[in-house]
Amino acid sequence: MKEEKLKKINEEIKRCKRCDLWKLRNNAVPGEGPANAKIMIIGQAPGVQEDKIGRPFVGPAGKFLNYLLELAGLKREEIFITSPLKCLPQPPVNRKPKKVEIKACLPWLKNQVEIINPEILILLGEVAFSVFFPDRDLKEFRGELIKEKDKKFFVTYHPSAGLRFPKIRKILEADFKKLKNLFA
Ligand code: SF4
Repeated sequence: MKEEKLKKINEEIKRCKRCDLWKLRNNAVPGEGPANAKIMIIGQAPGVQEDKIGRPFVGPAGKFLNYLLELAGLKREEIFITSPLKCLPQPPVNRKPKKVEIKACLPWLKNQVEIINPEILILLGEVAFSVFFPDRDLKEFRGELIKEKDKKFFVTYHPSAGLRFPKIRKILEADFKKLKNLFA
């Protein structure tokens, strides 16, 4: 039942034309993982590699995420991984998502969260954080577990920032090690 609902939504996302990003995309990236996942990871938006094959976190940031998940003792195949924006932001390629695009796309993510109903959402970076906590500052909550209604949120930086800045890489490593203790 859950699987069917999620599959249906993911098929609809692949055909979505709610914002202009459909015009230049090769593939929308609905996300992947089990429909009964206890953990969801929310990134920002597909990059070039993700757009090419229609899967999330398959480029350099994805490889780094895999390493971070190992630090946390988590198995990628047990997690549903997606983002608030399902198509590559362009032009220029990989630009920051526009508010209007996030607003158009957000109902898809909300549907996915409703169906999967995870226990914990790991929010990677400013965009993921702001869609759930529009009035709060990521820096105040980074590395912490936020409890909100029946959900828990763990907030940290986006792996692509860790690839650019050694200081953020260290913070990400520490945050994912902290996650390991939360699940212990
Ligand atoms: S980014 Fe989201 S809203 Fe825009 S076309 Fe893609 S799936 Fe639809």
